[in-house]
Amino acid sequence: MKTETKQTKYIFVTGGVTSSLGKGIISASLAKLLQDRGYSVTIQKLDPYLNVDPGTLNPYEHGECYVTSDGAETDLDLGHYERFLNIQTSQANNVTTGRIYQSVIERERRGDFLGKTVQVIPHITDEIKRRIKLLGNRDKYDVVITEIGGTVGDIESLPYIEAVRQLKWEMGRHCLVIHLTYVPYLAAARELKTKPTQHSVKMLLEAGVQPDVLVLRTEKKLSPEIRAKVALFCNVTVNSVIESIDVKSIYEVPLRMLEEKLDVIVLEKLGLDIGKEPELTSWRNFLEKIIHPKRKVTIALVGKYVELPDAYKSIIEALIHAGAENDTKVDINLVHSESINRKNVAEKLSNANGILVAPGFGHRGIEGKILAIQYARENNVPFFGICLGMQCAVIEFARNVLGWSDAHSTEMDDKTPHPVIDLMEEQKNILDMGGTMRLGSFPCKLKEDSKAAKAYGSELIHERHRHRYEFNSVYLESFIKAGMIPAGINPGSNLVEIVEIPEHHWFIGVQFHPEYQSTVLKPHPLFVDFVRKALTFSKEFNNQKK
Ligand code: GLN
Repeated sequence: MKTETKQTKYIFVTGGVTSSLGKGIISASLAKLLQDRGYSVTIQKLDPYLNVDPGTLNPYEHGECYVTSDGAETDLDLGHYERFLNIQTSQANNVTTGRIYQSVIERERRGDFLGKTVQVIPHITDEIKRRIKLLGNRDKYDVVITEIGGTVGDIESLPYIEAVRQLKWEMGRHCLVIHLTYVPYLAAARELKTKPTQHSVKMLLEAGVQPDVLVLRTEKKLSPEIRAKVALFCNVTVNSVIESIDVKSIYEVPLRMLEEKLDVIVLEKLGLDIGKEPELTSWRNFLEKIIHPKRKVTIALVGKYVELPDAYKSIIEALIHAGAENDTKVDINLVHSESINRKNVAEKLSNANGILVAPGFGHRGIEGKILAIQYARENNVPFFGICLGMQCAVIEFARNVLGWSDAHSTEMDDKTPHPVIDLMEEQKNILDMGGTMRLGSFPCKLKEDSKAAKAYGSELIHERHRHRYEFNSVYLESFIKAGMIPAGINPGSNLVEIVEIPEHHWFIGVQFHPEYQSTVLKPHPLFVDFVRKALTFSKEFNNQKK
């Protein structure tokens, strides 16, 4: 539907009343519907905090840090965008207040504003507007959906709302604001309450922004009266009041939004063709497999952030995708690595048909991860190690197979006589912590006949990285002789990217993060193979018990 004179349309998604209403999922669902109607769509997230990117944040703060193929460390919502849309996002899709201020201040130092007082309005708001329009101007999308992080009324999101106000004024019909709010159900009164929505819309109006569409998160169905009441108080048409009722799976949301005609209303308001009604056949098939799985496996996910599953968002979603591909429900048993010790490891992992050891940083919980890996290796339980999980597999093998009981990663013990995992050469002189890891997509050549090569069905792959340490190739020969092989090598640097134990049922450790590339329509081959092997292991396991 692209034409030469095409004007990119901008949709803003703001949030009211409370955080965690799912702006990312609503944005991704709308984008999915517009994509199916023939439009090229991308989504951008603006985060109102002062960190330049979330790479320096602990997962307890904002959950997982998602890495794009161009090496940007970004908000986990970008993961939803990629998983729903099957597109690649980039640095331009996630902008923080820190990054906005950094570029304005750099320009001020360069003298770009000589003689002028540099102010929030217009300088900060201009930079916000420039970043919003970049995806439209540079990449020529038909529609750019911009999700504004935080909740309307937060002091720190004010410049963003002001930028939206200005853009709406400048672009008129090419711009649209969707406000996502919450309609609580008061059990005592047996009523859904609209007052918080009225207040949050009022707050937007005070900032000069009239929302065009309201999406109401609710636990119960909205009556026509409730919709009419919200429409009346908030200056929107009744058909622009959209219900977003709680659902079991986030992947149901696009279908609910289709029923509510969110996409049609948005296209009409933007003056775009409605096109053909999306059939979403593959999406519906996928959902059917999630809702009515034929069988079940249990995967133990060993990590140190188990109180906060958002820390492992992409891994959990990749397991769901892989489960659907195998017609299987994947029960994820989050096991706290700090709680594992020699005595209880067998009991803690006894119900696992597969064990996945998670990525991470620092010493906490490391010995528990190593014990879990030893258990998986010795009991032939399918094992998948990701980044730190792969590094722990190397340490475990060095200690318990090669007999180097003092082996470690120099990240945890810089004096170890057997530094089997060591800092990369190019990392040795780096002092800054932000954005300085090995980041983004790198090629990897797979060893013929390895389990990894069979799973991928190809020789050369590209996967995303986020780490400072690596397999220390000085020890490679000893590992190969003892039965752990390099199944994937970076063709340029010769870094070991995948280790495997060919003798084992399925034992693969990867230095990269395959979870970032798993999408609904393209589940990741390693996750799919891991779940498949966990299934056969579970059958053998049950037969043995009989
Ligand atoms: N801490 C390890 C490193 O920096 C692993 C990082 C990760 O798991 N993402 O190399």
